[in-house]
Amino acid sequence: MRIRDSIHSDRMPPSYYVASGKYTDQFRRLEGNVRAEVCVIGGGYSGVATALALAEAGKHVVLVEQNQVGWGASGRNGGQVLGGFGPEQSEYEKYEKVYGAENAKRVWEEGIRCVELVKANVDKYNIDCDFTLGYFDAAMNQREMDDLKEAKEDLEELGFPHKLRLLDQNDVKTAIGSDRFIGGLVNEGWGHCHPLNLCRGEAKAAEGLGVEIYEDARVSKLDYHENHIVVDMDWGRVTADKVVLACNAYLGNLVPRLANRMLPVGSYIIGTERLSDELANDILPGNHAVCDQRWAVDYFRMSADKRLLFGGVASYTGVHPKNIVKKMRPKMLKVFPQLKDVKIDYQWGGYLAVGLNRIPQVGRIDERTYFAQAFAGHGVAPSHSAGRMIADAILGDDELLRIVESVKHRPFPGGRLFRKPILAAGMAFEQFKETLRL
Ligand SMILES: Cc1cc2nc3c(=O)[nH]c(=O)nc-3n(C[C@H](O)[C@H](O)[C@H](O)COP(=O)(O)OP(=O)(O)OC[C@H]3O[C@@H](n4cnc5c(N)ncnc54)[C@H](O)[C@@H]3O)c2cc1C
Repeated sequence: MRIRDSIHSDRMPPSYYVASGKYTDQFRRLEGNVRAEVCVIGGGYSGVATALALAEAGKHVVLVEQNQVGWGASGRNGGQVLGGFGPEQSEYEKYEKVYGAENAKRVWEEGIRCVELVKANVDKYNIDCDFTLGYFDAAMNQREMDDLKEAKEDLEELGFPHKLRLLDQNDVKTAIGSDRFIGGLVNEGWGHCHPLNLCRGEAKAAEGLGVEIYEDARVSKLDYHENHIVVDMDWGRVTADKVVLACNAYLGNLVPRLANRMLPVGSYIIGTERLSDELANDILPGNHAVCDQRWAVDYFRMSADKRLLFGGVASYTGVHPKNIVKKMRPKMLKVFPQLKDVKIDYQWGGYLAVGLNRIPQVGRIDERTYFAQAFAGHGVAPSHSAGRMIADAILGDDELLRIVESVKHRPFPGGRLFRKPILAAGMAFEQFKETLRL
């Protein structure tokens, strides 16, 4: 089922990323039959990272994308490149709880490595995606500040390899020109980038290594035969030994047992006109990617050409705001009232995928079918890990995949029909609890 609604059509959304895209050459259209050792379905980071890692090892890979590479969340997101695989990087006890005491360290380390994987691709393939280091967790009150202080201590004790710096009321303005925040934590190891250029740049690199990439190639059916799988599209098919499902929130009903375990959640971004150097430097002097600490997080950063890209709002019901600017601009002005006369040039949104336990779902359905999905709002770097661990497993080393796939992911209660209202009620409750804590 193709999604067509106010933020989705068959083409890329009219985002700042599309307007400033560097890798605009289209990939081929599939006509007829092609053969592959591995067919990757979905041209976001998960699919592209899998294809790239397999191609580096010499595998013959075909990647098929229903619209354009980067059309999904990977070409629409906030561009924040953050570590942690599932739980927050500072919450080691959660890694123990989710992955077991004996495996927690391995997955915790993957939370650090995922950002390194992005950086390594950018360097190795010279990807033009404005990759910039520097991330700021912003605190609005003393409780959040205390949590960040504790997170810093925990990370340092765990051996987190990057520099961390607490800012208090006296120096918070060195990171953010807003009275809304009383301090925060600077992390020099995480950062931000132009997400669409990252995705398409990586796809170009994969193509350079021999991956056949097809756009406008929507998979409608998978047929399993004894010695091969037939991946069927509107005007072509791929015959493959193995299949990787990397469709995330846009999977539709292609594989119901995966679809039932995640929910598409809408998130939305506005982009201002270009700011003067003075104004840009006033609001984000450190050029960090920023998140606040709330459940329904606001996230923002400066683009390379000095536009503020401000995101937030989570729609768990599938209903998009009628007017994204009207919804997001007041939020932006609460943080930066000094932008009241600044024009908004862009607005767009997309779906991320969330599972019941908010832990990435990566694994195998059977020995020929792999999948990656449900990174919640935190998938730019972890999806790169997922692609790498699937590729490693296909190449014969499934040590990490075995750990990650051992996590149980329950379907949403009530099936497809009721999962949205149930999750929406759950999330409303989380937000209510947060309001009480403030
Ligand atoms: C607005 C927004 C802001 C976000 N901000 C951040 C952020 O700042 N930092 C962060 O870490 N994460 C963020 N995320 C989450 C992050 O973008 C995702 O977790 C990540 O991009 C997931 O990558 P993916 O490859 O798994 O999925 P996607 O990028 O969604 O790719 C799935 C692809 O599969 C294709 N597909 C689906 N069905 C078929 C089919 N039948 N045949 C062929 N192709 C198919 C789709 O067209 C799509 O291109 C954000 C997400 C959104 C929507």
